[in-house]
Amino acid sequence: MHTKHAHSLRMTADVAIVGFGPVGKLLALQLGRAGHTVVVVDRNEAGYPLPRAVTHCSDFARILQSVGLAPDTIGHITEPYDDMYTWRNADGDTLVQVDWSGRGESGWYNTYFFNQPDLEDALDSLLAPLANVRVMRGWEATALSQRPDEATIMVRANATGERASVTAEWVVGADGANSRIRDWAGLDWHNDGYFFDWLVVDVKPIAGLDFPHVASQNCDIRRPSTMVPGGPGRRRWEFMRLPHENPEELNRAEKAWELLAPYGLGPDNAELERHSVYTFQACWATQWRNGRVLIAGDAAHLMPPFAGQGLGAGVRDAMNLAWKLHAVLGGHADQSLIDTYGSERLHHAVAFVKFSTSLGQVICITDPAEAADRDARMMADRERTGRPPAPPRPGLGDGLHVGHTGGILARQGRVRIADGDPILFDDAFSGPGAVITRDARALAEVSEPERNALRALGIDLVSLQGPTDVATVIDDIDDTYATWLDELGADTVLIRPDFHLYGSCAAADTAGLVTGLLDRVGLRSVDSARAR
Ligand SMILES: Cc1cc2nc3c(=O)[nH]c(=O)nc-3n(C[C@H](O)[C@H](O)[C@H](O)COP(=O)(O)OP(=O)(O)OC[C@H]3O[C@@H](n4cnc5c(N)ncnc54)[C@H](O)[C@@H]3O)c2cc1C
Repeated sequence: MHTKHAHSLRMTADVAIVGFGPVGKLLALQLGRAGHTVVVVDRNEAGYPLPRAVTHCSDFARILQSVGLAPDTIGHITEPYDDMYTWRNADGDTLVQVDWSGRGESGWYNTYFFNQPDLEDALDSLLAPLANVRVMRGWEATALSQRPDEATIMVRANATGERASVTAEWVVGADGANSRIRDWAGLDWHNDGYFFDWLVVDVKPIAGLDFPHVASQNCDIRRPSTMVPGGPGRRRWEFMRLPHENPEELNRAEKAWELLAPYGLGPDNAELERHSVYTFQACWATQWRNGRVLIAGDAAHLMPPFAGQGLGAGVRDAMNLAWKLHAVLGGHADQSLIDTYGSERLHHAVAFVKFSTSLGQVICITDPAEAADRDARMMADRERTGRPPAPPRPGLGDGLHVGHTGGILARQGRVRIADGDPILFDDAFSGPGAVITRDARALAEVSEPERNALRALGIDLVSLQGPTDVATVIDDIDDTYATWLDELGADTVLIRPDFHLYGSCAAADTAGLVTGLLDRVGLRSVDSARAR
């Protein structure tokens, strides 16, 4: 940790966030809306100007829904992709198809293509009215120190050299790949040693120039390349740097146009919006917390782009961390709850780093013999298995969940309450957190203080039928919940505010499941209620 410098302005906040990228923004929004004071600093005056994320999946869509940016309300930013993700060799033979079609358990399409800068602008607009969130652009974090109950970042204004400090109960480093917060907090960083350079190009074809709405990888050793949608009105290409090329040579507009020419694109029919050469990596922090300091997003994990999951992992971090910080700051949970953040998210994020690396190992090949070997092996595999693989669906690592269903992603279906219109579950309640049981009588043994404690954590009581004084009874319009409970072999599910299951059980064990959660969270109000 670094020592303090002399400074003028001293600020305090519940949470200080370093990094106003998408992960810092989402976390600030969730904490700000929950009523906490937040200071966010970012050394850049404006958003990141180079190409970044273009694809997101179903649970990412549900996270967007949770902040009021449901995909069907931001059709100018994100659009569904209901098809295969196809990997072909130089002869056009299909090596593998990842099934990106259909809808996921989160109630949204499995795959979308979007424009990251527009999404970040939308998050900015939601943050702007929050008086309790102070955003300091153009300020760089220069040092970090901490004590048992708080941490302090020192910051410096790039334009004026002015110095200030922010002392907060928690500091979160959402400061990207080269996180200083991670280093200052002494959090270990594992590098898996897998990296390649790619030229990434974002293009806006002129109106009317039609491209097939396909996501494909061209595993041609002469130029491994990616062609995918880039969000409404945009396309994304990525071209691997060949062994004889240097990055500067590749990172030129003329070179981008040369590589785009075979696709019928040129300056007369398209705008080259952004291009850059970047080195993808496969890395992760092995610890995500030191005392009052945490990390999230690219500061905690980096992955090759081929699964389109880098930012997905980051927004899941924010979702996992936000409700836990809210619970601890509000006095509804013990500080040890924060320890479950890193252990749960590390396992999940590493699964996607490894999946992305395995996809990279299919395409990042320029040696003819290696490519021939790959082609033969993958085509034989494809013939044998017949079915395209779906992307991995890892559960959470060890943490706040129980049993074999604990830590999996919860489903979201359409519901109707009383005579209301059909509506997605999360929009009908204060969010996704809920105990959902087949019959409200299963909740009879859950005491009043426990019900209040659940509500304080953002967990509603919901049933498919039964007395309405204990729970909100929903009409399970598409039988989403009844079917899901059947599949789980359970009568009750306890869903955390970040969409993951705490656990499931038979009706008779419902009160025990609730008590187990509250005990593990260390909820003070319940302890005192019991003592009385
Ligand atoms: C070419 C490419 C393609 C990608 N494709 C996908 C995809 O399809 N899907 C997907 O999910 N992900 C994808 N990703 C990954 C995704 O873009 C990143 O994971 C995501 O942008 C990381 O967000 P973040 O908020 O964690 O970090 P960042 O966006 O990097 O934000 C970190 C912020 O911290 C600030 N900062 C750093 N240090 C300091 C300091 N000391 N003081 C103050 N501020 C500081 C920086 O200025 C920056 O604004 C892709 C990435 C690349 C490069």
